[in-house]
Amino acid sequence: MKTIAVLGSTGSIGTQTLDVVREHGDIRVGALGAGSNIDLLEKQIREFRPGLAAVWEEEKARELKSRVRDTNTKIVSGMDGLLELAVLPEAELLVTAIVGMIGIRPTMAALEAGKDIALANKETLVTAGHLITELAKKTGAGILPVDSEHSAIFQCLHGENPREVSRLLITASGGPFRGYKRKQLEKVQVEDALKHPNWSMGPKITVDSATLVNKGLEVMEARWLFGVRLEQIQVLVQPRSVIHSMVEFRDGAVLAQLGAPDMRLPIQYALYYPERPYLTGERLDFEKLAEITFERPDTETFQGLPLALKAAAAGGSVPTVFNAANEKAVELFLKRKIGFLDIYDIIGLAMEHHKRIEHPNLQQILDTEAETYDWIESRW
Ligand code: NDP
Ligand code: MG
Repeated sequence: MKTIAVLGSTGSIGTQTLDVVREHGDIRVGALGAGSNIDLLEKQIREFRPGLAAVWEEEKARELKSRVRDTNTKIVSGMDGLLELAVLPEAELLVTAIVGMIGIRPTMAALEAGKDIALANKETLVTAGHLITELAKKTGAGILPVDSEHSAIFQCLHGENPREVSRLLITASGGPFRGYKRKQLEKVQVEDALKHPNWSMGPKITVDSATLVNKGLEVMEARWLFGVRLEQIQVLVQPRSVIHSMVEFRDGAVLAQLGAPDMRLPIQYALYYPERPYLTGERLDFEKLAEITFERPDTETFQGLPLALKAAAAGGSVPTVFNAANEKAVELFLKRKIGFLDIYDIIGLAMEHHKRIEHPNLQQILDTEAETYDWIESRW
Protein backbone atom coordinates (compact mmCIF):
# COMPACT_ATOMS: atom_id res chain seq x y z
CA MET A 1 0.00 0.00 0.00
CA LYS A 2 1.32 3.42 -1.00
CA THR A 3 1.71 5.94 1.83
CA ILE A 4 1.39 9.67 1.21
CA ALA A 5 1.74 12.87 3.25
CA VAL A 6 -0.58 15.80 2.53
CA LEU A 7 0.61 19.32 3.31
CA GLY A 8 -2.38 21.66 3.19
CA SER A 9 -4.95 18.92 3.83
CA THR A 10 -7.72 21.31 4.93
CA GLY A 11 -7.74 23.39 1.73
CA SER A 12 -9.43 22.96 -1.62
CA ILE A 13 -6.74 20.69 -3.12
CA GLY A 14 -6.10 18.96 0.21
CA THR A 15 -9.71 17.96 0.84
CA GLN A 16 -10.11 16.79 -2.77
CA THR A 17 -6.94 14.72 -2.39
CA LEU A 18 -8.54 13.04 0.61
CA ASP A 19 -11.75 12.54 -1.44
CA VAL A 20 -9.72 10.58 -3.99
CA VAL A 21 -8.03 8.57 -1.22
CA ARG A 22 -11.43 7.86 0.36
CA GLU A 23 -12.91 6.79 -2.97
CA HIS A 24 -10.32 4.08 -3.62
CA GLY A 25 -9.28 3.07 -0.11
CA ASP A 26 -5.88 1.73 -1.22
CA ILE A 27 -3.62 4.62 -0.23
CA ARG A 28 -2.50 5.20 3.36
CA VAL A 29 -2.28 8.73 4.71
CA GLY A 30 0.86 8.92 6.83
CA ALA A 31 0.72 12.62 7.67
CA LEU A 32 -1.57 15.63 7.39
CA GLY A 33 -0.65 19.29 7.69
CA ALA A 34 -2.54 22.59 7.90
CA GLY A 35 -2.14 26.21 8.92
CA SER A 36 -4.74 26.71 11.63
CA ASN A 37 -8.00 24.93 10.80
CA ILE A 38 -7.83 22.37 13.59
CA ASP A 39 -11.55 21.59 13.53
CA LEU A 40 -11.30 20.05 10.09
CA LEU A 41 -7.85 18.63 10.79
CA GLU A 42 -9.21 16.82 13.86
CA LYS A 43 -11.95 15.22 11.71
CA GLN A 44 -9.34 14.18 9.14
CA ILE A 45 -7.13 12.70 11.86
CA ARG A 46 -10.04 10.65 13.19
CA GLU A 47 -10.91 9.40 9.70
CA PHE A 48 -7.45 8.74 8.22
CA ARG A 49 -5.47 7.94 11.42
CA PRO A 50 -2.11 9.39 10.30
CA GLY A 51 0.93 8.89 12.49
CA LEU A 52 1.76 12.60 12.29
CA ALA A 53 -0.09 15.90 11.92
CA ALA A 54 1.56 19.29 11.55
CA VAL A 55 -0.09 22.62 12.39
CA TRP A 56 1.67 25.86 11.54
CA GLU A 57 0.26 27.91 14.43
CA GLU A 58 1.81 26.81 17.73
CA GLU A 59 -1.21 27.62 19.85
CA LYS A 60 -3.60 25.72 17.59
CA ALA A 61 -1.16 22.81 17.61
CA ARG A 62 -1.27 22.72 21.41
CA GLU A 63 -5.06 22.75 21.38
CA LEU A 64 -5.24 20.00 18.77
CA LYS A 65 -2.79 17.91 20.77
CA SER A 66 -5.09 17.90 23.75
CA ARG A 67 -8.15 17.20 21.57
CA VAL A 68 -6.65 14.11 19.90
CA ARG A 69 -4.96 12.66 22.96
CA ASP A 70 -7.01 9.49 22.49
CA THR A 71 -5.45 8.83 19.04
CA ASN A 72 -1.96 7.69 18.02
CA THR A 73 -1.30 10.84 16.01
CA LYS A 74 1.73 12.87 17.01
CA ILE A 75 1.17 16.62 16.68
CA VAL A 76 4.00 18.92 15.61
CA SER A 77 4.08 22.64 14.82
CA GLY A 78 5.83 25.50 13.05
CA MET A 79 8.30 25.13 10.19
CA ASP A 80 10.01 22.24 12.01
CA GLY A 81 6.67 20.47 12.03
CA LEU A 82 6.11 21.02 8.30
CA LEU A 83 9.61 19.71 7.62
CA GLU A 84 9.03 16.62 9.76
CA LEU A 85 5.87 15.95 7.75
CA ALA A 86 7.75 16.44 4.47
CA VAL A 87 10.36 13.78 5.24
CA LEU A 88 8.09 11.26 6.98
CA PRO A 89 10.05 8.02 6.47
CA GLU A 90 7.07 5.82 5.53
CA ALA A 91 5.67 8.25 2.92
CA GLU A 92 6.81 7.84 -0.67
CA LEU A 93 4.94 10.87 -1.99
CA LEU A 94 4.22 14.36 -0.65
CA VAL A 95 1.18 16.25 -1.89
CA THR A 96 2.05 19.95 -1.74
CA ALA A 97 -1.44 21.41 -1.35
CA ILE A 98 -0.24 24.32 0.77
CA VAL A 99 -0.73 27.83 -0.61
CA GLY A 100 2.15 30.26 -1.13
CA MET A 101 5.93 30.17 -1.20
CA ILE A 102 6.01 28.97 2.41
CA GLY A 103 5.97 25.57 0.68
CA ILE A 104 9.56 25.94 -0.53
CA ARG A 105 11.41 24.43 2.41
CA PRO A 106 9.11 21.41 2.90
CA THR A 107 9.13 20.70 -0.86
CA MET A 108 12.92 20.83 -0.99
CA ALA A 109 13.26 18.69 2.14
CA ALA A 110 10.99 16.03 0.62
CA LEU A 111 12.91 16.01 -2.66
CA GLU A 112 16.18 15.79 -0.81
CA ALA A 113 14.81 12.73 0.99
CA GLY A 114 14.00 11.25 -2.45
CA LYS A 115 10.22 11.53 -2.14
CA ASP A 116 8.04 12.11 -5.18
CA ILE A 117 6.00 15.32 -5.15
CA ALA A 118 2.41 15.73 -6.30
CA LEU A 119 2.80 19.44 -6.90
CA ALA A 120 -0.13 21.83 -6.54
CA ASN A 121 1.85 24.55 -4.76
CA LYS A 122 2.88 26.47 -7.88
CA GLU A 123 4.34 29.46 -6.00
CA THR A 124 7.20 27.24 -4.86
CA LEU A 125 8.12 26.14 -8.37
CA VAL A 126 7.85 29.68 -9.71
CA THR A 127 10.30 31.08 -7.17
CA ALA A 128 12.67 28.16 -6.67
CA GLY A 129 12.26 26.24 -9.94
CA HIS A 130 15.98 26.10 -10.64
CA LEU A 131 16.73 24.61 -7.21
CA ILE A 132 13.79 22.21 -7.22
CA THR A 133 14.32 20.74 -10.66
CA GLU A 134 18.04 20.33 -9.97
CA LEU A 135 17.35 18.59 -6.66
CA ALA A 136 14.79 16.26 -8.22
CA LYS A 137 17.30 15.33 -10.92
CA LYS A 138 19.97 14.65 -8.30
CA THR A 139 17.84 12.44 -6.06
CA GLY A 140 15.73 10.85 -8.81
CA ALA A 141 12.50 12.07 -7.20
CA GLY A 142 9.55 12.64 -9.53
CA ILE A 143 7.51 15.84 -9.77
CA LEU A 144 3.92 15.05 -10.74
CA PRO A 145 1.86 18.12 -11.62
CA VAL A 146 -1.54 18.60 -9.98
CA ASP A 147 -2.42 21.92 -11.57
CA SER A 148 -5.01 20.98 -14.21
CA GLU A 149 -3.17 22.63 -17.14
CA HIS A 150 0.13 20.97 -16.29
CA SER A 151 -1.50 17.64 -15.65
CA ALA A 152 -3.12 17.97 -19.08
CA ILE A 153 0.25 18.63 -20.72
CA PHE A 154 1.84 15.82 -18.70
CA GLN A 155 -0.91 13.47 -19.92
CA CYS A 156 -0.42 14.60 -23.54
CA LEU A 157 3.31 13.97 -23.25
CA HIS A 158 2.88 10.43 -21.94
CA GLY A 159 4.85 8.15 -24.25
CA GLU A 160 6.02 11.08 -26.38
CA ASN A 161 9.53 12.37 -26.95
CA PRO A 162 9.77 15.78 -25.18
CA ARG A 163 12.32 16.89 -27.79
CA GLU A 164 9.58 16.76 -30.44
CA VAL A 165 7.41 19.34 -28.70
CA SER A 166 7.12 22.61 -30.56
CA ARG A 167 4.58 24.47 -28.37
CA LEU A 168 2.60 24.19 -25.17
CA LEU A 169 -0.88 25.74 -25.35
CA ILE A 170 -2.04 26.62 -21.86
CA THR A 171 -5.76 27.28 -21.65
CA ALA A 172 -7.36 29.86 -19.36
CA SER A 173 -11.00 30.42 -18.45
CA GLY A 174 -10.43 34.18 -18.39
CA GLY A 175 -11.82 34.33 -14.84
CA PRO A 176 -14.92 36.14 -13.56
CA PHE A 177 -14.02 39.45 -15.24
CA ARG A 178 -13.45 38.19 -18.78
CA GLY A 179 -14.60 40.91 -21.19
CA TYR A 180 -14.22 43.72 -18.61
CA LYS A 181 -12.17 46.80 -19.39
CA ARG A 182 -9.95 48.71 -16.95
CA LYS A 183 -12.71 51.17 -16.00
CA GLN A 184 -14.97 48.32 -14.84
CA LEU A 185 -12.16 46.69 -12.86
CA GLU A 186 -11.74 49.85 -10.78
CA LYS A 187 -14.95 49.09 -8.96
CA VAL A 188 -14.85 45.32 -8.47
CA GLN A 189 -15.10 44.00 -4.92
CA VAL A 190 -13.65 40.98 -3.12
CA GLU A 191 -16.96 39.08 -3.52
CA ASP A 192 -16.90 39.61 -7.31
CA ALA A 193 -13.31 38.35 -7.58
CA LEU A 194 -14.15 35.26 -5.54
CA LYS A 195 -16.84 34.10 -7.99
CA HIS A 196 -14.97 31.90 -10.44
CA PRO A 197 -17.12 30.74 -13.36
CA ASN A 198 -15.91 27.10 -13.51
CA TRP A 199 -13.75 26.11 -10.55
CA SER A 200 -14.23 26.21 -6.80
CA MET A 201 -10.79 26.91 -5.31
CA GLY A 202 -9.09 28.57 -2.34
CA PRO A 203 -9.37 32.39 -2.11
CA LYS A 204 -5.80 33.24 -3.16
CA ILE A 205 -5.80 31.29 -6.42
CA THR A 206 -9.34 32.50 -7.17
CA VAL A 207 -8.14 36.12 -7.03
CA ASP A 208 -5.07 35.09 -9.07
CA SER A 209 -7.43 33.72 -11.71
CA ALA A 210 -9.32 37.02 -11.82
CA THR A 211 -6.11 39.04 -12.30
CA LEU A 212 -4.61 36.46 -14.72
CA VAL A 213 -1.60 36.31 -12.39
CA ASN A 214 -2.49 32.63 -12.06
CA LYS A 215 -1.94 32.10 -15.78
CA GLY A 216 1.37 33.92 -15.51
CA LEU A 217 2.43 31.66 -12.64
CA GLU A 218 1.36 28.69 -14.75
CA VAL A 219 3.55 29.78 -17.67
CA MET A 220 6.54 29.88 -15.32
CA GLU A 221 5.48 26.58 -13.77
CA ALA A 222 5.30 24.98 -17.24
CA ARG A 223 8.75 26.20 -18.14
CA TRP A 224 10.26 24.40 -15.15
CA LEU A 225 8.15 21.28 -15.42
CA PHE A 226 8.59 20.69 -19.13
CA GLY A 227 11.94 22.37 -19.88
CA VAL A 228 10.66 24.54 -22.74
CA ARG A 229 11.56 28.12 -23.63
CA LEU A 230 9.14 30.94 -22.77
CA GLU A 231 8.51 31.58 -26.49
CA GLN A 232 7.22 28.03 -26.81
CA ILE A 233 4.32 28.68 -24.44
CA GLN A 234 1.08 30.26 -25.62
CA VAL A 235 -1.86 31.19 -23.41
CA LEU A 236 -5.29 30.78 -24.95
CA VAL A 237 -8.63 31.69 -23.38
CA GLN A 238 -11.15 28.84 -23.57
CA PRO A 239 -13.98 30.11 -21.42
CA ARG A 240 -15.69 26.86 -20.39
CA SER A 241 -12.59 25.04 -19.10
CA VAL A 242 -13.18 21.86 -21.08
CA ILE A 243 -9.78 21.65 -22.76
CA HIS A 244 -7.32 21.70 -19.89
CA SER A 245 -4.30 22.36 -22.14
CA MET A 246 -2.65 21.14 -25.33
CA VAL A 247 0.71 20.21 -26.82
CA GLU A 248 1.73 20.89 -30.40
CA PHE A 249 4.46 18.66 -31.80
CA ARG A 250 7.03 19.35 -34.51
CA ASP A 251 4.93 17.66 -37.19
CA GLY A 252 1.98 19.97 -36.46
CA ALA A 253 -0.09 17.38 -34.54
CA VAL A 254 -1.86 18.80 -31.49
CA LEU A 255 -2.84 16.63 -28.53
CA ALA A 256 -5.30 17.95 -25.97
CA GLN A 257 -6.67 16.65 -22.70
CA LEU A 258 -10.35 17.27 -22.14
CA GLY A 259 -12.66 16.55 -19.24
CA ALA A 260 -15.24 18.03 -16.91
CA PRO A 261 -13.68 20.72 -14.69
CA ASP A 262 -12.98 18.54 -11.65
CA MET A 263 -9.63 18.80 -9.82
CA ARG A 264 -9.97 15.25 -8.52
CA LEU A 265 -8.92 13.98 -11.95
CA PRO A 266 -5.48 15.65 -12.08
CA ILE A 267 -5.02 14.89 -8.37
CA GLN A 268 -5.77 11.23 -8.97
CA TYR A 269 -3.47 11.13 -12.02
CA ALA A 270 -0.61 12.39 -9.83
CA LEU A 271 -1.38 9.92 -7.04
CA TYR A 272 -1.76 6.86 -9.29
CA TYR A 273 0.43 7.76 -12.27
CA PRO A 274 0.50 6.12 -14.78
CA GLU A 275 -2.66 4.22 -13.80
CA ARG A 276 -6.17 5.54 -14.35
CA PRO A 277 -8.54 3.91 -11.87
CA TYR A 278 -12.28 4.56 -12.31
CA LEU A 279 -13.26 7.95 -10.92
CA THR A 280 -16.86 8.82 -10.15
CA GLY A 281 -18.16 12.16 -11.39
CA GLU A 282 -19.43 14.05 -14.35
CA ARG A 283 -18.44 13.02 -17.88
CA LEU A 284 -18.27 15.38 -20.84
CA ASP A 285 -21.35 15.24 -23.03
CA PHE A 286 -20.17 16.55 -26.39
CA GLU A 287 -23.67 16.87 -27.83
CA LYS A 288 -24.68 19.18 -25.01
CA LEU A 289 -21.38 20.99 -25.11
CA ALA A 290 -21.88 21.69 -28.82
CA GLU A 291 -18.95 24.11 -29.17
CA ILE A 292 -15.58 24.97 -27.75
CA THR A 293 -14.48 28.55 -28.37
CA PHE A 294 -11.13 30.31 -28.09
CA GLU A 295 -10.01 33.89 -27.54
CA ARG A 296 -6.75 35.74 -27.22
CA PRO A 297 -6.18 36.88 -23.60
CA ASP A 298 -6.75 40.62 -23.05
CA THR A 299 -3.28 41.43 -21.75
CA GLU A 300 -3.86 45.17 -21.90
CA THR A 301 -6.57 44.99 -19.25
CA PHE A 302 -5.32 42.00 -17.31
CA GLN A 303 -1.75 42.98 -16.50
CA GLY A 304 -1.10 39.82 -14.47
CA LEU A 305 0.03 37.92 -17.54
CA PRO A 306 2.42 40.50 -19.11
CA LEU A 307 3.93 41.26 -15.68
CA ALA A 308 4.56 37.55 -15.17
CA LEU A 309 6.14 37.20 -18.59
CA LYS A 310 8.40 40.14 -17.81
CA ALA A 311 9.43 38.51 -14.53
CA ALA A 312 10.00 35.19 -16.26
CA ALA A 313 12.13 36.78 -18.99
CA ALA A 314 14.23 38.63 -16.39
CA GLY A 315 14.67 35.41 -14.38
CA GLY A 316 16.98 35.14 -11.37
CA SER A 317 15.28 36.58 -8.29
CA VAL A 318 12.65 38.56 -10.24
CA PRO A 319 10.01 35.77 -10.32
CA THR A 320 10.34 35.63 -6.51
CA VAL A 321 9.57 39.35 -6.30
CA PHE A 322 6.66 38.95 -8.71
CA ASN A 323 5.24 36.11 -6.64
CA ALA A 324 5.89 37.61 -3.19
CA ALA A 325 4.45 40.98 -4.23
CA ASN A 326 1.38 39.24 -5.59
CA GLU A 327 0.94 37.17 -2.40
CA LYS A 328 1.11 40.32 -0.27
CA ALA A 329 -1.11 42.34 -2.62
CA VAL A 330 -3.77 39.62 -2.74
CA GLU A 331 -3.71 39.44 1.05
CA LEU A 332 -4.27 43.24 1.20
CA PHE A 333 -7.03 43.02 -1.41
CA LEU A 334 -8.80 40.24 0.52
CA LYS A 335 -8.59 42.42 3.65
CA ARG A 336 -10.16 45.24 1.57
CA LYS A 337 -7.16 47.51 2.12
CA ILE A 338 -6.47 48.02 -1.59
CA GLY A 339 -8.48 47.90 -4.82
CA PHE A 340 -8.27 45.21 -7.50
CA LEU A 341 -6.09 47.21 -9.89
CA ASP A 342 -3.65 48.10 -7.09
CA ILE A 343 -2.53 44.46 -7.22
CA TYR A 344 -0.91 45.16 -10.60
CA ASP A 345 0.65 48.43 -9.42
CA ILE A 346 2.15 46.79 -6.35
CA ILE A 347 3.65 43.94 -8.37
CA GLY A 348 5.05 46.32 -11.00
CA LEU A 349 6.55 48.73 -8.48
CA ALA A 350 8.06 45.93 -6.37
CA MET A 351 9.73 44.50 -9.47
CA GLU A 352 11.10 47.91 -10.42
CA HIS A 353 12.44 48.51 -6.93
CA HIS A 354 14.29 45.17 -6.71
CA LYS A 355 17.97 44.59 -7.54
CA ARG A 356 18.06 41.33 -9.46
CA ILE A 357 20.18 38.40 -8.23
CA GLU A 358 21.37 36.03 -10.96
CA HIS A 359 21.21 32.51 -9.44
CA PRO A 360 19.57 33.01 -6.05
CA ASN A 361 20.14 30.27 -3.49
CA LEU A 362 17.43 29.28 -1.02
CA GLN A 363 18.47 31.88 1.55
CA GLN A 364 18.52 34.63 -1.08
CA ILE A 365 15.05 33.61 -2.25
CA LEU A 366 13.71 33.73 1.31
CA ASP A 367 15.45 37.08 1.91
CA THR A 368 14.02 38.49 -1.32
CA GLU A 369 10.56 37.37 -0.21
CA ALA A 370 10.98 39.05 3.21
CA GLU A 371 12.36 42.25 1.66
CA THR A 372 9.48 42.41 -0.81
CA TYR A 373 6.92 41.93 1.97
CA ASP A 374 8.59 44.60 4.13
CA TRP A 375 8.80 47.06 1.25
CA ILE A 376 5.09 46.65 0.47
CA GLU A 377 4.05 46.76 4.12
CA SER A 378 5.92 50.02 4.63
CA ARG A 379 3.99 51.61 1.75
CA TRP A 380 0.46 50.21 1.77
P1 NDP B 1 -6.62 26.80 0.08
O1 NDP B 1 -6.52 28.17 0.58
O2 NDP B 1 -7.97 26.21 -0.14
O3 NDP B 1 -5.83 25.82 1.06
C1 NDP B 1 -4.54 26.09 1.50
C2 NDP B 1 -4.05 25.02 2.44
O4 NDP B 1 -2.74 25.36 2.91
C3 NDP B 1 -4.93 24.85 3.69
O5 NDP B 1 -4.91 23.52 4.10
C4 NDP B 1 -4.18 25.73 4.70
O6 NDP B 1 -4.45 25.40 6.05
C5 NDP B 1 -2.76 25.37 4.32
N1 NDP B 1 -1.80 26.36 4.81
C6 NDP B 1 -1.78 27.69 4.58
N2 NDP B 1 -0.75 28.27 5.22
C7 NDP B 1 -0.10 27.27 5.87
C8 NDP B 1 1.02 27.21 6.71
N3 NDP B 1 1.71 28.31 7.04
N4 NDP B 1 1.41 26.01 7.18
C9 NDP B 1 0.72 24.89 6.89
N5 NDP B 1 -0.36 24.88 6.10
C10 NDP B 1 -0.77 26.06 5.60
O7 NDP B 1 -5.75 26.74 -1.25
P2 NDP B 1 -5.95 25.80 -2.54
O8 NDP B 1 -6.18 24.39 -2.13
O9 NDP B 1 -6.89 26.44 -3.48
O10 NDP B 1 -4.52 25.94 -3.22
C11 NDP B 1 -3.37 25.25 -2.73
C12 NDP B 1 -2.26 25.35 -3.78
O11 NDP B 1 -2.67 24.65 -4.94
C13 NDP B 1 -1.97 26.79 -4.23
O12 NDP B 1 -0.61 26.91 -4.50
C14 NDP B 1 -2.78 26.93 -5.51
O13 NDP B 1 -2.20 27.87 -6.39
C15 NDP B 1 -2.66 25.52 -6.07
N6 NDP B 1 -3.75 25.11 -6.97
C16 NDP B 1 -5.03 25.06 -6.52
C17 NDP B 1 -6.06 24.68 -7.36
C18 NDP B 1 -7.47 24.55 -6.85
O14 NDP B 1 -8.33 24.07 -7.59
N7 NDP B 1 -7.77 24.92 -5.63
C19 NDP B 1 -5.81 24.36 -8.77
C20 NDP B 1 -4.41 24.40 -9.13
C21 NDP B 1 -3.43 24.77 -8.25
P3 NDP B 1 -5.69 26.11 6.87
O15 NDP B 1 -6.94 25.56 6.23
O16 NDP B 1 -5.50 25.67 8.24
O17 NDP B 1 -5.52 27.58 6.63
MG1 MG C 1 -4.48 25.80 -13.12
